[in-house]
Amino acid sequence: MDENRLTDPLEQDQDREHDQSLRPRRLDEFIGQEKIKQNLRVFIAAARQRGEVLDHVLLHGPPGLGKTTLAQIIAAEMDLEVRLTSGPAFTNSAELIALLSEQTEQRAIFIDEIHRLGRVVEEHLYPAMEDWRVELIIDKGPNARHFNLQLEPFTLIGATTRAGLITAALRSRFGIVCHLDFYPPEELAIIVTRSAGILGLEIRPEGALEIARRSRGTPRAANRLLRRVRDYAQVDGQDVIDRQVADQGLTRLGVDERGLEPLDRRYLELVIKHFGGGPVGVQNLSVSLGEETDTLEDVVEPYLIQSGLLMRTARGRETTPLARTHLGLENE
Ligand code: ADP
Repeated sequence: MDENRLTDPLEQDQDREHDQSLRPRRLDEFIGQEKIKQNLRVFIAAARQRGEVLDHVLLHGPPGLGKTTLAQIIAAEMDLEVRLTSGPAFTNSAELIALLSEQTEQRAIFIDEIHRLGRVVEEHLYPAMEDWRVELIIDKGPNARHFNLQLEPFTLIGATTRAGLITAALRSRFGIVCHLDFYPPEELAIIVTRSAGILGLEIRPEGALEIARRSRGTPRAANRLLRRVRDYAQVDGQDVIDRQVADQGLTRLGVDERGLEPLDRRYLELVIKHFGGGPVGVQNLSVSLGEETDTLEDVVEPYLIQSGLLMRTARGRETTPLARTHLGLENE
């Protein structure tokens, strides 16, 4: 992927340090996703009243919408330590068993990209999630002996970009399932204003809204665009980010009025000009664009679909008339 892709919702190294300071710590600071917050408040209060661990939580939704943030908040609200890890980090079952069997107080374990756990590793999670035990097999063949190892209770918080990638067996073991959706501009504007405050920037409401409207519904993108606009403002000697400063900065960054970037536009143009508007399979597009299908499916397509520019049908991808209008390709 183009490293300079600005609204890329996937985390980049430079984000990490900034994200730490901008990351909300408590549920009250977490903006938007009201239904999820309401439900979590109830489940957390109930678990605390009963003195039990919180049921396992599955968070799914496109990258950059706050899954990791929410996992840390859930742990904080439950007064739990949280261990952060990810599906691809486990190369074998022993690593998972080692993590699960650590002798600690009650805690939360966050597994990002949980759909990428290997099948065998995943199967060790089932009894751990249900009965706090893992099964150890020592020796092979006729000498094989099975031991059950009792674990300290924990809350597993899993995150995935697409719920469809998770096996039904794993999914059914989560008691709480939350789907995070793209944020409307008004909520992103609140996030931008909050971040500007933390970064010590003066921003006008219209400036915040302009950045919000062009952030693909994604808080991580909004924060990143804010930082880039700040750079332009600083170099141009502007002390305040108003609508004009934001617009000029974003336009110079190649982010159009809908928040689309060169890759999004190339994607739509390809479908319209070379495939007659579709339907076309994602593999074809991946080859033509030189991008991984995962990138197209996780990062590019969800927002194009949400914006009404693209449709994903059983026969492939199809652009909508709105995509042609947006790109000025009505006559193609
Ligand atoms: P994900 O795990 O879904 O990829 P993150 O939790 O890492 O996303 O969120 C990316 C960044 O966006 C966070 O560091 C945080 O600063 C910001 N963010 C996400 N959701 C919110 C929110 N609801 N309110 C405020 N900031 C948010």
